[in-house]
Amino acid sequence: MLTSHLPLRPAWVEIDLDILRMNYDVINTDRAERAPQLKLISVLKDDAYGHGAVPVAREAAKAGVSFIALVTLQEAVTLREAGIETPILLMGEREPAELPYCVDFNLTTVVNDVETARLLGGFAIKAGKRAPLHIKINSGMSRFGLRWDQAAPVIQEISRTPGIVIEGILSHFAMSDELDKTFARKQLERFMHLLAELQKSGIDIPLRHICNSGGFLDLSEAHFDLVRVGLLQFGVFPSQVCRRIPGIAPVMSVKSRIAFIQPLEVGDCVGYGMRYTATSPRRIAVIPIGYGDGFPRVRNEGAVLIRGRRAPLVGGVSMDAITVDITDIPDACRWDEVVIMGRDGSDEITAHEVAQWKKSVSYDVLVSWRSRLPRVYKP
Ligand SMILES: *Cc1c(COP(=O)(O)O)cnc(C)c1O
Repeated sequence: MLTSHLPLRPAWVEIDLDILRMNYDVINTDRAERAPQLKLISVLKDDAYGHGAVPVAREAAKAGVSFIALVTLQEAVTLREAGIETPILLMGEREPAELPYCVDFNLTTVVNDVETARLLGGFAIKAGKRAPLHIKINSGMSRFGLRWDQAAPVIQEISRTPGIVIEGILSHFAMSDELDKTFARKQLERFMHLLAELQKSGIDIPLRHICNSGGFLDLSEAHFDLVRVGLLQFGVFPSQVCRRIPGIAPVMSVKSRIAFIQPLEVGDCVGYGMRYTATSPRRIAVIPIGYGDGFPRVRNEGAVLIRGRRAPLVGGVSMDAITVDITDIPDACRWDEVVIMGRDGSDEITAHEVAQWKKSVSYDVLVSWRSRLPRVYKP
């Protein structure tokens, strides 16, 4: 028997590339209406937020994004080897051993200090190239980047480094999608102050960017030349309070099937730890997806959609299964499709809702569906 013909297990992640294309259209239209010069960086780190880096990168390239932003060298090389020629912005911090590869694969490297710029320039010269780099500024997030009030002299030094071209300068918001924009504005002010300082000393950096999805939606005064859009392209808004663009829809759904139906009599328990006891006769559906697939490890909390209706979770979550109450969905049968995350009829389980069960954020929910769930692409 050919293992390539193995049936897919009855639990999977569905990626709708049509919706992804629609989201790019909607984002591009919104961008063009508000700021015609503004360009897009598609942030595709962590396997494109769990959607699959290569297929998503192909769509991003077709949608005309100016850069694809990634965090690990492996992610960048994977896209280059898949034939993606879009400029790649490699964010985060590089170890010296990674720098020759940045030159070799024509990556645009984000640099946080003079030493890395010098090493990068050295490797570029050896390869007969000039390495493009973007300088990261810490404007208050205190993760990567040169501190805003000490950056100017360091950038002057970097600008004199042979073998490199300072193509961009960037910073990152710690809080751009909440109603209170006080700190985001403070960060913006610090960034702008530094840019003015640089301009006075004759350093004009062509590409300036500070916005993530939240900043793109809510802080048009911070758009500069490029915006780095991650979550929004996948149809999930970064928070419940940020601006909504109509037409944006979630690209990812998670689905399964009813694998077994278990009748309960009064007093019967469900699952490890006997966390649920039936107080009336119930019908329980067993769904073959568990915390080993990234389903949050909740107890008697959460729900799935079957035939467009909610079936609440009962008991705990096992590694490979959850149990839901289908007493109120009498027509539900074995092998019916089950929506774990996504839309079914008029109801929807959003990444934000799953995040609440998980006591986490939508970003974490998207990237946490494990690779043992097959990815099914709707072309
Ligand atoms: C992840 C990331 C982004 C994208 O953020 P979203 O909120 O997903 O749009 C932008 N910039 C940096 C530096 C990031 O790490």
